[in-house]
Amino acid sequence: MVLNRWDDNEAKKFIDAAWEDLADRELALRVYTSQIIGQDLNLVLHGGGNTSCKLKRRDIFDNEIDVLHVKGTGWDLGVIKTLGLPGVRLSPLLELRQLDALSDEEMVNLQRANLLDSTSPNPSVETLLHAFLPHTFVDHTHASAMLFLANLPNVEAVVNEIFGGWLVCVPFIMPGFELAKAAAEIYDSNPGVEGLILINHGHFAFGDSSKESYDR
Ligand SMILES: [Zn+2]
Repeated sequence: MVLNRWDDNEAKKFIDAAWEDLADRELALRVYTSQIIGQDLNLVLHGGGNTSCKLKRRDIFDNEIDVLHVKGTGWDLGVIKTLGLPGVRLSPLLELRQLDALSDEEMVNLQRANLLDSTSPNPSVETLLHAFLPHTFVDHTHASAMLFLANLPNVEAVVNEIFGGWLVCVPFIMPGFELAKAAAEIYDSNPGVEGLILINHGHFAFGDSSKESYDR
């Protein structure tokens, strides 16, 4: 049984410690939910998992831009700080979806080139999957219970029976551009679902708030 570790008082401490800016407050709450995911070893087998949020920020010319904050490589979710969720300009990431192919090297380079802070760590290898899903908040784990399902030979039938259409399966593809595109296409064909089961890989949940995504 997975324990829901959300605590209103703890969440408030993270918000109170953040800057006044709405985006910074949302990011602080994302740090909180990332930590409570990472502190549950049943959710982050082998240190896996990543989280994100899409926020509005202002660039140096005072233009409003869409920014994806997503876990940076090398950070452990359980002790993550805001520096571990680097901001990447979202629109160049979304443009990539029209491509037929993109190498890992090209993907990493483009993600780095669009960091708001050039000293940030590389955004997660699963960044494009977070970007292509339309939700403001996205959580990805390799939860033991979900992996048990994801590794069953008849995973789609079992997931359908248990979740009755709330979750939809994505075939196994190595993380990267191709998986991001396939998962987003499956989501677009099933816009009512609350999450994705990635066969032989893990689980994606999403929502309109950090808490909703975490709860799911
Ligand atoms: Zn993964």
